[in-house]
Amino acid sequence: MADFQITEIGEKAWCVLDDWGASWYVLEGRDRAAVIDTGITAGEKITPVIRRLTQKPLVLLVTHAHIDHLHHIDEFSAVYMSHQEFTMGEEILQKMTGGISYDLHQTIDIDTDSQIDLGDDRISVCACGGHTPGSVVFLDEKRNLLFTGDAIGSGAGVWLQVPGTLTLEEYLPHLIALQKWLVAKGGRMKFYGGHSYQVFQSVHIREYNPLNMGLLGDLIDLVDGLVRGTIVGMPSNARKSFDPRPKCYAAFGRAEIVYDPERIHKAG
Ligand SMILES: [Zn+2]
Ligand SMILES: [Zn+2]
Repeated sequence: MADFQITEIGEKAWCVLDDWGASWYVLEGRDRAAVIDTGITAGEKITPVIRRLTQKPLVLLVTHAHIDHLHHIDEFSAVYMSHQEFTMGEEILQKMTGGISYDLHQTIDIDTDSQIDLGDDRISVCACGGHTPGSVVFLDEKRNLLFTGDAIGSGAGVWLQVPGTLTLEEYLPHLIALQKWLVAKGGRMKFYGGHSYQVFQSVHIREYNPLNMGLLGDLIDLVDGLVRGTIVGMPSNARKSFDPRPKCYAAFGRAEIVYDPERIHKAG
């Protein structure tokens, strides 16, 4: 039996950390409960874990189409995910979904300001493509909790070195739009990433680096600096590159990123 660490993060709201280091969330509303991401617990089901927490009908909200966030997608009948993910192309999607037999086209498409109604609460969506083209964040409006998946990193910087990402130049307006959207929502939400204890390559920040509005501001300055050439990265030793081309690491303030130096600017 796999081990799940369950932490209460609010009233009827839980973080579940799996053996693999993926964090996913359960938010109970009056009529329905939202599950945000699934983690990856190969060979087992996660529904029994969820049923220890809530008996409400479930909707699954997927932050992005990576295997560690949707491995258990076939346990759910109502699934929300941005269809911008399909722009990664079949080959990458196959790899990123681990070849699970589930047609991602049967998910319900979401974009900025989509809302998922839980009865006495709603979950609002803001698109933040970069790590994947269709990465989104979810705001629990009642509890003021924000779930960011891998869109702005999880304790150890943003991964923009994996296949299927946007360029840094394309990522920048998404980050700025996210900052504006969060400020319009009051700007004081508590952030939860997709990997609550992730610590990988970090030159400046050796401990877990909490996500918040300050880090988002630093990340905007970092990506802007890389695009303009006022910040230049150093060679990265990232273990997870998925292809042999050299990758770079850069930091500004508390923000960090690993990226492909050939994918700073948009093509053409
Ligand atoms: Zn990811
Ligand atoms: Zn992840």
